[in-house]
Order: sequence, then C-alpha cells, then structure tokens
Amino acid sequence: MISNPRIVEIERIKKENDDIKTFFVRIEDKPEPGNYVMLWVPWSKGKSKRIAIEPSDQIPISISSFKRGKIGLSVKNVGETTNALHDFEPGDRIGITGPLGNSFNIRGKKILIVAGSVGLSPLYFLSRVASEMGKQIYVIYGVNSKTELFLIKELEKIAEDLIITTDDGSYQKKGCVTDFLSDFYDISKIDSIYSCGPELMMKKVLDFSLKKNVFSQFSLDRYIRCGVGLCGFCAIDGCRVCKDGPVFTSEQLKGFGEFGVVKRSKSGGVLRL
Ligand SMILES: Cc1cc2nc3c(=O)[nH]c(=O)nc-3n(C[C@H](O)[C@H](O)[C@H](O)COP(=O)(O)OP(=O)(O)OC[C@H]3O[C@@H](n4cnc5c(N)ncnc54)[C@H](O)[C@@H]3O)c2cc1C
Repeated sequence: MISNPRIVEIERIKKENDDIKTFFVRIEDKPEPGNYVMLWVPWSKGKSKRIAIEPSDQIPISISSFKRGKIGLSVKNVGETTNALHDFEPGDRIGITGPLGNSFNIRGKKILIVAGSVGLSPLYFLSRVASEMGKQIYVIYGVNSKTELFLIKELEKIAEDLIITTDDGSYQKKGCVTDFLSDFYDISKIDSIYSCGPELMMKKVLDFSLKKNVFSQFSLDRYIRCGVGLCGFCAIDGCRVCKDGPVFTSEQLKGFGEFGVVKRSKSGGVLRL
C-alpha cells in the first residue's frame, strides 16, 4: 500500500450543499470503507508542485467513495484548511497521505447505518460496498437542518429504508437520530450497526447496541495531528484513533472511560464533551 505523502490533482468537484463539497482524486491503492487520508493544501493555489508538509497543516478526511481508481473526499467547510480547499477547482493540486487507519468489518445480512452530519461520509462508502455484497441496508441519518443533507439520492438507491431526522423539523422526522432507533426497526432482525457522527450521538448508539446485544462499530472523531501514531493527540484510553482506529467495536468502546466524556483539543488540552 502506497501511503506516503504525495501531491494529487483534483479531477472533479461535486457541490453537495452550501457547506459540503466532494473532491475526487486518483489514488493507486484500493481503500476499504473506514479508511481516511491526511490532506493538506499547498500554500499556493493552482498547479503548484510545492510540497509544504507541516504536520499541523494536515487534516483527516474519510474516504466517502471509491470508483474506477478515484476516491471521493466529502469535506465540510468548517475552518482554515477546509475553507481554503473549498476555493480549489478541478485541475488544482492537493496533498494527501493514505489510505490510513483500519476499516469496518461488514458482518451479517441486514445492516443498520446510524449517521450524524458529515459522519455519513465513511458510512456511505460502507453502504455502497455492503450493497454490492448483497447486504440489506437500513439507514437513520440526522442533521440540524434540511440544508445540511447530502448524498440522499444516492442513499435512496441502495437503502431498503432511509429515515432522515432534523433537529429543527425542517425535513422528515423532528428530533435526533437516537430518538428513532428503537421505534423504526425490529432490532432483533438487524445483524450489525455502524455509526459515525457527534460522539454523544455515538455514545447513545453504543449503549443501545450493547443493550440489544448487536455487533456494532463506530468511526471516531478525535484531533488527529500526525496520522501515523506518533504524537498521541488522538489518544483515547491508550489507543491511537489514527492508527488503531478510527473504527472501534462496541466491545472496545464499552471499556473506554473517555468515550463520550472527554477529548483533546488542538492545543492538547482536555475538552469535556
Ligand atoms: C478520522 C476522521 C475522519 C474525518 N472525516 C471527515 C470527512 O470525511 N469530512 C469532513 O468534513 N470532516 C471530517 N473530519 C473532521 C475534519 O478533520 C475537520 O473538520 C477538519 O480537520 C477541520 O479543519 P480546519 O482547518 O478546516 O478547521 P479548524 O479551524 O482547524 O477546526 C474546526 C474544527 O475541526 C476540528 N479539527 C481541526 N483539525 C483537526 C484534526 N486534525 N483532526 C480532527 N479534527 C480537527 C477542530 O477541533 C474544530 O472542531 C474527520 C475527522 C476525523 C478524526
């Protein structure tokens, strides 16, 4: 697997909504659902070949699709790097290292996806691969408001059932994804649950899956600085999210005292969730 830092050309950009764009770039390796890349933006926009690798400039982005040698990176514009990236155009160059991290273990016939916000990205890749394997996919996907939704048409094509929740009630069900977990599915028929989104949401999904005794996996969002397991910024209960994760099972997470409680900030300080 070629996971060394390199400069790649953006081949296509798809505007998903006002805040999210998907950038398609060609890579040599076949990624697995759950893998991510460390991405950096060269100082100068355009066809620059300059490689400016400052570990602090890199950000982790999950792979949201893989087709004909190209990965999709669906990026929400939230800060300095993502803001710069959103100004880029097809033909411009970005830096990536990866695919990195572990991947989801697709288990059983009927799988339930529980996604929050841009946490849908790795789960969409997982859903596509699982669908190609003949699995039945059920999805609960929540955002704050209708304008934040993305990949809905694509999900409709592969999901047996798709429930969308919005905090403000602007689309489908009003409330959080976790409000609808028990109501809408006969959980005894679900073989596995996969979740990614805000950590407090995932904590509720974890408690639910443990109570119902269903195999489940979670893609964690921690501050990833180096991406190679050296700096420890992303550590959770002695595990490195960048290298041992980002995907963890319910069996691992149930023993983690920090999950859903605290995480490290960009400056290394401890943040209460
Ligand atoms: C494994 C993993 C996969 C991710 N996949 C996606 C994805 O597919 N799409 C997407 O839009 N976002 C994803 N994120 C979140 C994304 O990394 C942050 O939104 C991004 O780093 C923000 O960078 P910024 O410079 O634009 O914002 P900043 O202004 O630096 O920060 C904005 C917010 O992003 C967080 N953040 C900043 N840098 C990092 C970092 N290195 N690691 C983690 N969080 C950081 C900050 O804590 C803050 O809450 C993922 C995070 C992780 C850990």
